[in-house]
Amino acid sequence: MITAVYPGSFDPVTNGHLDITSRAARVFDQVIVAVYERPNKRLLFSAEQRVRMIGQAIQDWPNVSVDRYESLTVEYARQVGAQVLIRGLRALTDFELELQMAHINQRLDPGIEVICLMASQSYSFLSSSIVKEIAALGANVSSLVPAHVARALGEHFAD
Ligand code: ADP
Repeated sequence: MITAVYPGSFDPVTNGHLDITSRAARVFDQVIVAVYERPNKRLLFSAEQRVRMIGQAIQDWPNVSVDRYESLTVEYARQVGAQVLIRGLRALTDFELELQMAHINQRLDPGIEVICLMASQSYSFLSSSIVKEIAALGANVSSLVPAHVARALGEHFAD
């Protein structure tokens, strides 16, 4: 059985993340969307909120679950018995960073493979940062994120 971990900040989860998750779920037996609790960036949502939003989005996908972690990603993957790390690639700019991270992870644990899925064309422009930026300006983000995430963004920026 192959278990894949899809790690990220998911602040918040977008339709692009969910596209990668559902495609990974067709390839691997089990996919764990793993929320990195304290990434080196300013967060809008707490780890609990990010986990809850993903949980609601994946509730009907039988081989997908959500979890959170604080340790090194490869350490977390080892802990849950995963053999694969999934990442999504949107553009050349993603590639540089992902290649660097894949090399570091390979060095830390050569037993874990990093597999990158290409972003679907329709989501290749989409990032959590873009969603937050336009939601902050009051724009409608309902075509970019699940309805409950759009609602949470609306509530956040209404305050
Ligand atoms: P991180 O802080 O780890 O980059 P993100 O939540 O921004 O966390 O992204 C998690 C992963 O999902 C990364 O591999 C990123 O490249 C990928 N990703 C983000 N948005 C998209 C998208 N629209 N389509 C495909 N992959 C994406």
